[in-house]
Amino acid sequence: MPLKKTEAIVLKSLRQGETSKILTLYTRAFGKLTVIAKGARSMRSKFGGSLELLNYISIVFYEKETREIQLLSQADIVEFFANIKLSVEKTALAMAVCELVNNLEIGIEPNPSLFKLHLEALKAINQNENPMNVLRAFQVKLLNILGIRPDFTTCSKCKNQKQGGVAFDITQGSFICEACRKQAAGMILSADSFHALRSFQRDSFASLNGLLISEPSCQQVDGFIAAYLKYHIEGLRDLKAVKFFKKL
Ligand SMILES: [Zn+2]
Repeated sequence: MPLKKTEAIVLKSLRQGETSKILTLYTRAFGKLTVIAKGARSMRSKFGGSLELLNYISIVFYEKETREIQLLSQADIVEFFANIKLSVEKTALAMAVCELVNNLEIGIEPNPSLFKLHLEALKAINQNENPMNVLRAFQVKLLNILGIRPDFTTCSKCKNQKQGGVAFDITQGSFICEACRKQAAGMILSADSFHALRSFQRDSFASLNGLLISEPSCQQVDGFIAAYLKYHIEGLRDLKAVKFFKKL
């Protein structure tokens, strides 16, 4: 059996037998991968603490194409995300990112852009002061990778670039500006909400630290993101981790 090497993020962990673990990993080179880590729960396991949820690790595994669960040979921590592990809030948001990746059909195949975005989001949740904005930006940036990028720049009627409030047509992924809006249907977004969504799409995670969004706009933005994902991704489930976060 050939040995394969790649980097991975630990999405899910289940107990198996007396001492083992079955792990769902999102890997850079193989997409989603299920592995068994034999003896991972015993005291002197060679895996140490490397297989904890949310860890960014490098792995070696034995690949047998006919097998659904691959055998993990080695795992080492690349990044542990200490600030995430110390905060219930950050953990819930990081879990939401992992849950979303785990639920995506494109996650099954290797996708270097998705892996990069996933990793950047975890790093930003670890670092940023407003981790909720990281989850929002992750979801908006994800739409680019999924090929369903909403247009936040030009009004679909007058073709002008706009800054103000808009009516957004989720089915078309485009908007109509305030001046053209009269009878237009669509989800109303305030200037503040529209500005935030555009920043989430365009700006790096690090530069979102200074972005302040009012409470009503947060609700509008969250409503927009949820509706957009739901409309464009068939069978997408509500994120359990987000429900948990809202209860905090
Ligand atoms: Zn217009």
